Amino acid sequence: MHLTLTPEQQSMRDATRRLVDRSIQPVLDKHDRDAPLPKPVFLEILGKLAELGLPAARLPEAAGGPGISMLDYGIAFEPLPAPIAVSLVAQEATIARLYAECTDEQRARFLPGLVAGHKVGCTGSTEPDTGSDPRGIRTRLTRRGDTLLLNGRKMWITNVSACDTMLVTCLDSRDGSSDRVIKVVVERDRSPFEAHEIATIGLRQGMLGECVFEDCPIPPENVIEGLRGGTAVLKASWSINRPLFGLIAVGLAQRAYDIAIDYAKTRRQFGKPIAAHQLVQKNLSDIVTAITASRLLCYQALSMVDQGQGAAGAAAMAKRFAQTECQNAVFQAMNLLGAMGLSEEARIERIYRDIRMIPVPDGTNEILALIHGRELTGLEAFRGTMPHG
Ligand SMILES: Cc1cc2nc3c(=O)[nH]c(=O)nc-3n(C[C@H](O)[C@H](O)[C@H](O)COP(=O)(O)OP(=O)(O)OC[C@H]3O[C@@H](n4cnc5c(N)ncnc54)[C@H](O)[C@@H]3O)c2cc1C
Repeated sequence: MHLTLTPEQQSMRDATRRLVDRSIQPVLDKHDRDAPLPKPVFLEILGKLAELGLPAARLPEAAGGPGISMLDYGIAFEPLPAPIAVSLVAQEATIARLYAECTDEQRARFLPGLVAGHKVGCTGSTEPDTGSDPRGIRTRLTRRGDTLLLNGRKMWITNVSACDTMLVTCLDSRDGSSDRVIKVVVERDRSPFEAHEIATIGLRQGMLGECVFEDCPIPPENVIEGLRGGTAVLKASWSINRPLFGLIAVGLAQRAYDIAIDYAKTRRQFGKPIAAHQLVQKNLSDIVTAITASRLLCYQALSMVDQGQGAAGAAAMAKRFAQTECQNAVFQAMNLLGAMGLSEEARIERIYRDIRMIPVPDGTNEILALIHGRELTGLEAFRGTMPHG
């Protein structure tokens, strides 16, 4: 077991860092820090991420993927600024799901633009009354004459306001019944719908929003009828997304620590730098311990996916630990700056707001504990059918 990066992994991480320093952070800094990025700006960034193969990380090379392991992906992913990283998780997971579930003809129509970063993708499962438990979905596909119509509302969807292609979970009522859950691909230019952003505490440059389908016409060839040989890609979906969200928390806590350690070495109180006080050193040690342990748990979960091991429990544990401990770490880092930590100038308050967003998508703390607990005990604590298989 080697717990150091290989030269290839180091070089992948350096490539992302260079991209962030040269082409992503300066763009984010130029735009309103409290407003969603304009779509053309986001597309420019997505195109650059596509040059590194990141939006198609999970696809086989033959299908346009970069041929990297999920651990490598996580290592390359970690330095991305949080709003971009969250959007990339949505884009990449949408591509992986489309690859897994679509026919060859559908793959050929939907994937190239998304993989190249020319189109924005998203996945819509959550609805106003359907969150952790996906069984309450009400969005419905019906038939009127020769036309298929989608009606319903999706909420808290990453990328939705800018999306070109949306993978939507809905009830299949084409034959009048309503029990079967299926997916349809909604292409915005063929199936127009209303979408707008939702103002939130953090990740304000991101594109989290809601959309409404009102008799939205769906071409029959955009209905997904079943898995098409990509089940492994799909099965690992949660086990990959969760450690990636954990790594977003790690990245945010690392940035908060970098600010705090610089400040602690220069800020003087009681005749010496505050970094020379014992309790400040203890706090700094706590922060680095939280970051390091979180990072390793996330790497472990991704590595288990690569080894083909069941990683559901490890992925749930990694996200829960990372989002809790890194949130505490950011709070501590902010405290180290005293009043300055509360100012916009110090740039740590934004990290504090951004990290608050991470514990909700792809598993709240409670849901993640239940998934891990189920693996530990073999006993089902959810009511009825399991959400988030
Ligand atoms: C930044 C962000 C990005 C997102 N991106 C997407 C996206 O791209 N696509 C998408 O479809 N959705 C997305 N979501 C939605 C997200 O998946 C849901 O918000 C999440 O599943 C939780 O659902 P909810 O908000 O309805 O909370 P609820 O499910 O209503 O839960 C409310 C509270 O009850 C607790 N709870 C629920 N059930 C149990 C239980 N059995 N035992 C104990 N406690 C329980 C929860 O832990 C939580 O604390 C995103 C959300 C955010 C914040």
